[in-house]
Amino acid sequence: MLRLPPFRYLAPRRLEEAALMLAQEGEQAMLVAGGTDLFPNMKRRQFTPEVLIGLRGITALQSTGGSAEQGMHIGAGVTLSTLASHPLILQHYLALATAAGSVSTPQLRNAGTIGGNLLLDTRCNYYNQTEFWRHSIGYCMKKDGDICLVAPGSPRCWAISSADTAPVLVSLDAQARLVSVRGERVLPVRELFRDDGMNPYTKARDEILAEIILPPANGWRSVYLKLRRRGSFDFPILGVAVALRFADDQTVADARITLGAVASHPVEATEAAAQLVHQSLSPELIEAVAAAAARRSKPLDNADLTINYRKQVTPVFVRRALSQLAES
Ligand SMILES: Cc1cc2nc3c(=O)[nH]c(=O)nc-3n(C[C@H](O)[C@H](O)[C@H](O)COP(=O)(O)OP(=O)(O)OC[C@H]3O[C@@H](n4cnc5c(N)ncnc54)[C@H](O)[C@@H]3O)c2cc1C
Ligand code: SF4
Repeated sequence: MLRLPPFRYLAPRRLEEAALMLAQEGEQAMLVAGGTDLFPNMKRRQFTPEVLIGLRGITALQSTGGSAEQGMHIGAGVTLSTLASHPLILQHYLALATAAGSVSTPQLRNAGTIGGNLLLDTRCNYYNQTEFWRHSIGYCMKKDGDICLVAPGSPRCWAISSADTAPVLVSLDAQARLVSVRGERVLPVRELFRDDGMNPYTKARDEILAEIILPPANGWRSVYLKLRRRGSFDFPILGVAVALRFADDQTVADARITLGAVASHPVEATEAAAQLVHQSLSPELIEAVAAAAARRSKPLDNADLTINYRKQVTPVFVRRALSQLAES
């Protein structure tokens, strides 16, 4: 049995209190929400924080508000189950409800939060293993080692951004509100990420993700498709999030396509999406855009299934996502 390392647990009731604790405890502290990503990682000794600051007691993080017309606010502590069944999210931001509902299992979705999902640690076949397993192969540079075992000549880590909601929130042009003792700031969710498997987030260590802000739905329609080996609980090995806004004449007025689980950050297929604007969604256009979007995907041999299969299936998933929106 894998056991958690020892740690001190702090249970703030207010966001300001949590921010102060995080600042005071310094580098030895980590935040925990549902713990469904962090606790397994701690059991495998990828993280050994001396202090955990639990966010579950902060009710301000657990509410949703707003409307489709004005945009919505989603507290970082809202559970994935709540999002997956939220009537407004289901009606106006369908891709988000789909992505939240496709994460792991019902039990983990009841505990796991949108904040924890967005800030999930990047994943790799050589990293998401027990301490014993990693020790036996000499570790890798993401934790305790010197080289990348996927690309030994590479100076960087290529671990994968595997959060289902991340590509969706980028495609929806959502924003994130971060709070610390230094104040607060709002930034586009896409700017939370950087292309670095070891340091995948731009969030400062002392910042807490307080909420996600969705823009007005304003005629946007969205879809999320996920590839994984087992539909019951696997992480994505490809996530395709597409959001389109249609003009009155049913041509595409605006488009965003984002690929998840193909790199260390959600990858936007901006040029491919631009080909859709002012056009009707014909089968030929969908095919061409799917092929262009898939060129942004460059999978490495550090996830389930083969690289070739994952490459070949990417345009298929983009095509299916666009076709679904064309028919909706
Ligand atoms: C068997 C299994 C299958 C899984 N399948 C999937 C899957 O298919 N798709 C998927 O996306 N995930 C999957 N997960 C991972 C996980 O369950 C989800 O990503 C979940 O949403 C994580 O949320 P959490 O609240 O439990 O995060 P936690 O584990 O509490 O935290 C995760 C990280 O986010 C940080 N954090 C949490 N909240 C905040 C905040 N408000 N501000 C700043 N930092 C914060 C923590 O410090 C930690 O670094 C799976 C996990 C398991 C064990
Ligand atoms: S990509 Fe390389 S450095 Fe990063 S976790 Fe995998 S093996 Fe380690």
